[in-house]
Amino acid sequence: MVRVRIAPSPTGFAHVGTAYTALFNYAFAKKNGGQFVLRLEDTDIKRNVEGAEKAIYEGLTWLGLTWDEGADIGGKYGPYKQSERLETYKQYVERLLDSGYAYRDQRAIRFKNPNLDIFWDDKVRGRISFPGNEIKDFVIVKSDGFPTYNFAVVVDDILMKITHVIRGEEHISNTPRQIAIYKALDEKIPTFAHLPTLRNKDRKKLSKRRDPVDLRIFRSEGYLPEALVNFLCLLGWSHPEEKEIFDLKEFVELFSLERVRKAGPIFDMEKLNWINGEYLRKIQKSKLSNQIFAFYGGRYSKKLISKIVPLIQNRMRKLTEFESLAGFMFNRKKPLRVTDNFERHIKAAFDAVSGIKKWERQAIDESLINKVKSEGFKTGDFFMDLRASLSGSRVTPPINDCIYILGKDEVLERLSLSLK
Ligand code: GLU
Repeated sequence: MVRVRIAPSPTGFAHVGTAYTALFNYAFAKKNGGQFVLRLEDTDIKRNVEGAEKAIYEGLTWLGLTWDEGADIGGKYGPYKQSERLETYKQYVERLLDSGYAYRDQRAIRFKNPNLDIFWDDKVRGRISFPGNEIKDFVIVKSDGFPTYNFAVVVDDILMKITHVIRGEEHISNTPRQIAIYKALDEKIPTFAHLPTLRNKDRKKLSKRRDPVDLRIFRSEGYLPEALVNFLCLLGWSHPEEKEIFDLKEFVELFSLERVRKAGPIFDMEKLNWINGEYLRKIQKSKLSNQIFAFYGGRYSKKLISKIVPLIQNRMRKLTEFESLAGFMFNRKKPLRVTDNFERHIKAAFDAVSGIKKWERQAIDESLINKVKSEGFKTGDFFMDLRASLSGSRVTPPINDCIYILGKDEVLERLSLSLK
């Protein structure tokens, strides 16, 4: 039975790197009919942050990366928080002290390096070896009585029957120490796979100072969870048919650790925007309208949203762009004067619109274009001023559609306001 886990520390927000590791662990577990455990490394009490645990649960749930066992839902091998496992660690310390693999050093306890050369066959990187003398004696229990990461992680993985440890490459240097502990305890060593570190466009490791890494930011910026998951799938892994758009289910079916590349993949926001746009184009108009309505907390009328969605669905890349593309439909903006003929254009438009008897889409087209002809205006200039007067912007969805949706009274009102 395959069992994998992630073990984030609740020291801040939910990091997109945690989601990435979770995704690959989740896929490996599901693909192999195994289980995915969410454990918390919370023994560094000083660094624990209130609310961080909840943010991890919320972020992963938002992405659809559900776990089979964890601190919130329990499971057969709990508790799943290290702070609740201190007694357990003590028993393992005793074992190491008794067998001479550990010794007291003032108030701390150190693991005694047995000087064995260590190697493992990493599922992503192939064989990795470390000469035994590189692993110095290292602390396993600190003077405050808490276990260190390298020790607690091994005890947890043994007791939780973890078969595959899939984690970030920054842990490669920890792995030989952990293997040395497994050997000293005479326990079965899991298979290791070290995923590549995500890098930004400057090839630097993602950092919270430079890059958007908090999952909540992606949510509030209007990315769809399915799109973010799809984007993360493509980091260091490629679809066998080179497809770029696919869902989590397909990823699970096709997943293998052998397909993971070790070179650090680039976290390219432009690519994410493109993928998100692809998802926005695919969803049903009614569903997208509901999502926009919910995203803005009910601030905009649903009826109006659903009239506007068909005009902008193809251009939107994020939910937040709804406001930049169509916010003027709800709130008047300061008119923009584009050409020198602005006044003449707007007066003529006012005339044309007032003259429309039956408010129909086609009547609007005809009436405006007739006006352009009879006045001898340049079509492009006229419509640019009209657009800018109604929206305060040079870029809008097709302006005649907007006029139709805004309604005659509102259009006339806006036109006259922009002549003041
Ligand atoms: N707390 C560590 C991390 O999130 C866990 C590493 C591991 O999976 O062993 O990087």
